[in-house]
Amino acid sequence: MTQTNSSVGIRQLLDMQNQAFIAEGAVSAEVRVQRIQQVIDLLVESKDALCQAMGEDFGGRPAVFSLANDILGSLSSLKHARDHLTEWLGDSVRPSVKPFDMFGASAWVKYQPKGVIGIIGTWNAPLFTLLSPLACAFAAGNRAVLKPSEIAPRTAQVLAQAVAKRFDPQVLAVVQGGPEVAAAFSEQPWSHLVFTGSTSVGKLIMGAAAKNLVPVTLELGGKSPVLVGDSADIANVAERIAVGKSLNSGQLCVSPDVVWVHESRLQSLTDGIVAHYQSLYPSVTANADMTPVVNERHHARVSAYVQDAKDRGVQVVETGAAQAGVDRRLPLSLVINPPQDAEISQHEIFGPAVVLRSFQNIREAVAAINQGDRPLALYYFGSDEVEQNWILDNTLSGGVSINDVVMHPALEDAPFGGVGASGMGHYHGREGFLEFSHARSVYKAGSHDPRREWGMLPPYNEQFAQM
Ligand code: NAD
Repeated sequence: MTQTNSSVGIRQLLDMQNQAFIAEGAVSAEVRVQRIQQVIDLLVESKDALCQAMGEDFGGRPAVFSLANDILGSLSSLKHARDHLTEWLGDSVRPSVKPFDMFGASAWVKYQPKGVIGIIGTWNAPLFTLLSPLACAFAAGNRAVLKPSEIAPRTAQVLAQAVAKRFDPQVLAVVQGGPEVAAAFSEQPWSHLVFTGSTSVGKLIMGAAAKNLVPVTLELGGKSPVLVGDSADIANVAERIAVGKSLNSGQLCVSPDVVWVHESRLQSLTDGIVAHYQSLYPSVTANADMTPVVNERHHARVSAYVQDAKDRGVQVVETGAAQAGVDRRLPLSLVINPPQDAEISQHEIFGPAVVLRSFQNIREAVAAINQGDRPLALYYFGSDEVEQNWILDNTLSGGVSINDVVMHPALEDAPFGGVGASGMGHYHGREGFLEFSHARSVYKAGSHDPRREWGMLPPYNEQFAQM
């Protein structure tokens, strides 16, 4: 298949998978388990090459992080789906509802695979954003075509080779290429399309999918806020935020973006985050434990957000100093109370910087959050359960972690996804299985049809109205 990366080639691949899907008929639980196991096996077999590729794509991402985030993260999703799909795929019998119970009818919902799922991943978690949704797509009995990010090309190449070695392309294939390939990919009549990336490109993807009425799962981003209640232990908050922000140098969709804290504790929180971050990274440049910013464009983007704040006279606290021109590692910048029109207030940071904002009453912070787009994640720190529940009831986000950050996406048995501008749909767990299944209602008539004797069929008379 020489043309795979052109729109013609992608379409040929899709048609081939569709034909194979139709020819296969019902997809047994055993086949689904076996396909997921094949992905597990290829990940285990290629883990060193994949970690090396991810390291090179980032210009020095630590192999330990790639192993934990992308290899073990994907394996966790795959194993959970493998071990639970049998309980997910059973028909759901619906109790008889009037008047059908009087017809002697029965009914059930049958969860059937949709067909061929297209999955577009992103560079920051170049395997997880492909293989975690794939786990649910395979559990639901589908076939799939993956489109890795062009910003992680070595990882894409190693993955494509590993998939080609283990899979018939009629079941699973990889398409590589840049935005033009992604655009062509999103224009195909998939049975379902998954996209992970920015909200702006998500809108283009949804527009392209709409032309074919393709249902979409959009895993997007946004400015995930942290609310620090007055009952929270500031030392603990500082440590959790420093650790959460350090992961992939803030290049995580659920990385804390804006931290809200009472004005009386702003200074101690700032000092605590700096101290914890410095204990993780005593130096910046050439520190092999620190993930570099992925490329020059993103390095310039994050640096410009911080510089814009400095130019406006905003207080910026740095956790270290980078040596210019050596690598793309950056210290964490804490930007204190920037104005709303600052670059860093306007855009998802997606890198090693974080905004700290002070409040007098936490309800001010909640009101401000509710004025913005629905975030992918929201975090609350505190031991006040009344306040915690009030915040849960009065905000909306894709998911929530309480007294920690970035943890809930790792819950395999709970849906992961956004809401509003942070996306739609989800993967993980039974909800992920349902996302890639068609819930098909089946009605089976009983042996006796009483509609004639009830007066429900023409010629009508008064009998039915008087019942
Ligand atoms: P991006 O939207 O810039 O690019 C994503 C992919 O879209 C690219 O790999 C590219 O191939 C494709 N693309 C670019 N232009 C396109 C077009 N016109 N038509 C179709 N496809 C096109 O995002 P990114 O920089 O790769 O990732 C960062 C964003 O992803 C952040 O907003 C982050 O929050 C989000 N993200 C979300 C999740 C999640 O699970 N919700 C996970 C990781 C990242």
